[in-house]
Amino acid sequence: MTAEEDRQRIMGFNIMSDYPVVSSGITFQEVPGKVAVYFELGNCQQGCDGCHSPHLAKCTETKGFHEIFKHAEEKIDSGANCILLMGGTTNNIPHESLVYLINGLSRLAPTALYSGRDDVEADLQLALNTGLSYIKTGSYKKELGGLDKPTTNQKFFKKEYLISHTYSEARADAYMEDITRESFQSCTN
Ligand code: SF4
Repeated sequence: MTAEEDRQRIMGFNIMSDYPVVSSGITFQEVPGKVAVYFELGNCQQGCDGCHSPHLAKCTETKGFHEIFKHAEEKIDSGANCILLMGGTTNNIPHESLVYLINGLSRLAPTALYSGRDDVEADLQLALNTGLSYIKTGSYKKELGGLDKPTTNQKFFKKEYLISHTYSEARADAYMEDITRESFQSCTN
């Protein structure tokens, strides 16, 4: 067992999986105010009419968790302050494996996921029950446009916390706030 694997075991991770990573890089635009190291996930099954990323319909290679983790860690050490998974819910990745990936990466930095499915409730639950700090929901509909269009069907949520105090304890309850308008449409309204 490598030192990294041992560290993950101690941290409580025990699911090993391969992920359909098509590409990675740095983006300044997808998560507001963040320099994000992104991973594009292939094998997308959503089939949006007018898909802006047709190269994500397939994936010929996969990467293991540790390879993804190490790459993200290097970029965070070099100045990135966020991790973005571009895909995840429409890529035939088992739910447990997706949760494992999210929770592992979110120990490095705030983590975002661009979901392409049309199930806002499931996406919000995914965010609330994992280490995600941000989630984008909704398939791409060419006639409605992306997040920067007021007509869009897509939404971008940020995890916030409601702090409450009682005599004996303080509680922090997470909720997801829709920040689509203020973060992506300020120049179009
Ligand atoms: S979810 Fe994204 S990658 Fe998948 S078909 Fe729709 S636009 Fe293309």
